[in-house]
Amino acid sequence: MEHYKVLNVIGEGSFGRALLVRHQNTGEKYVMKEIRLPKSSSAIQDSRQEVILLAKMKHPNIVKFRESFEVDDHLYIVMEYCDGGDLLETIKHQRGKLFPEQTILQWFVQMCLAVQHIHDKRVLHRDIKSKNVFVTERRIIKLGDFGSARILTSPLAYACTYVGTPYYVPPEIWENLPYNNKCDIWSLGCVLYELCALKHPFQAGSWKNLILKICQGSYSPLPPQYSYELRSLIKQMFRKNPRQRPSTNTILNKRSLLKVVKSCVPAQLNDDPSEKLLDDESAPIIQPLNEQQKASTDAHRSSSTVPGRRQWEKEPTGTVLNVLENASILTLSLGADRSEGGLVKKYGLEDQRKKWNKEAPETLLNILNNADLTSAFKTYTIYRSKTSEDCLRGPLFNSSQAPDATDSREVEIDIDPERFETRSDDEDTDFEEEDMDPDWVSELKKVTEAQL
Ligand code: ADP
Ligand code: MG
Repeated sequence: MEHYKVLNVIGEGSFGRALLVRHQNTGEKYVMKEIRLPKSSSAIQDSRQEVILLAKMKHPNIVKFRESFEVDDHLYIVMEYCDGGDLLETIKHQRGKLFPEQTILQWFVQMCLAVQHIHDKRVLHRDIKSKNVFVTERRIIKLGDFGSARILTSPLAYACTYVGTPYYVPPEIWENLPYNNKCDIWSLGCVLYELCALKHPFQAGSWKNLILKICQGSYSPLPPQYSYELRSLIKQMFRKNPRQRPSTNTILNKRSLLKVVKSCVPAQLNDDPSEKLLDDESAPIIQPLNEQQKASTDAHRSSSTVPGRRQWEKEPTGTVLNVLENASILTLSLGADRSEGGLVKKYGLEDQRKKWNKEAPETLLNILNNADLTSAFKTYTIYRSKTSEDCLRGPLFNSSQAPDATDSREVEIDIDPERFETRSDDEDTDFEEEDMDPDWVSELKKVTEAQL
């Protein structure tokens, strides 16, 4: 601690503060995240999760961990300082001037590479949003804020929570369906859309409309200057059925992105490609190709089509859209069973999956009538436990504890071992957490009550 001089506070939240600091010896600037440690020892353990996960991530497009320590009931995480701000600021600075497609694709590919890296380690970020994607002055993308991330090896511990930012939360969360790595793909789709349209895809005047729009996947078309491929990519990432959303592997193997991805060089050239990049002003954006991308690059060279690859999805028909428009959220997912691709899959009896409790969506939507929508851009931790008095932690709920502190470990869950297995879904890979049943209804009820 004494090695660092605090320059200023650059972020403040319910977790604590983010401080810009300077190392006394080296003069280097870093960000120091100061997190108030909760009282219980299991909760403290969970607070340390962010450190553990960030420290495990070594990728040029992920904020680099330096060290962590605990002083006076606070946990400090020292990490690389991204001097170009976050993507949300970058978007706002544009003041309506659209980014060139090439710039968008370069940033997007870097985000995908970061997400691919964490998914390869079976970690879900769960709070991907433009505010958590940082930029360096050299315009290198760095995914940050692992405060909501969870590793999947001990799913029992996380059975009762979802952490996320409502505007970026995928439909399966609102519909109390199980979720997996594809929740990050949805959120990444939101960021990609924001880069193109300079606004969030799901614009709404109320929580109710926000949820409906997310569940319907209804967003305005992109500005016409963007390519068909980019439009299609966003459409795929907003597929309602998580299994039909492309994984990062699939995305990075897309022909339309190959040029951007191909500007990469093998990782072995340098232990830390990010530092090499920073040393060389003229360097292109260099990213390592993984084995699958290398194989795919070769395949694309020899053949212009990839056999067996899924075709673009057709737009939902007018009928389906009509049904969606008039349906409640619950019937949306039920109706989707009978509808064709792109809609949510309700896990049926034959799936031998755990059944998920569903609340009548009317209740949810009624509760949300009076809630303040601006808070939907903030991160929430939501607990399922009905017995706990303190089950929502987030901006609208007074809590002395850190928002990312704990996941309940108290609930017994039946384990379906198949859920741990990596499932092959065409060229995609999905993985899931064991028992995700985010109880948004009761949580949001509390939020609204607290506001009134
Ligand atoms: P949380 O969203 O949980 O409050 P973050 O890790 O996102 O915590 O940090 C809060 C804010 O601090 C960010 O929105 C950003 O403005 C700033 N910040 C955090 N980490 C960095 C970093 N590595 N470089 C630059 N700014 C950062
Ligand atoms: Mg953040």
